[in-house]
Amino acid sequence: MTSINVGDTVTTRKPHACGGNKWVVVRVGADYKIKCERCGRIVMLDSDKFYKVVQIAK
Ligand SMILES: [Zn+2]
Repeated sequence: MTSINVGDTVTTRKPHACGGNKWVVVRVGADYKIKCERCGRIVMLDSDKFYKVVQIAK
């Protein structure tokens, strides 16, 4: 599994409501928090959900 670190940029399979699909990881662990680069909204996901919605480009 690819490791994700705070500060990494990830993209989501579906764009956010604002139209952006690039996110910065702001917290990792049992829960993940990602911040939308376009609108600044922070979304919290559990790790299962995180790996489902995020596309890891590595
Ligand atoms: Zn957004």
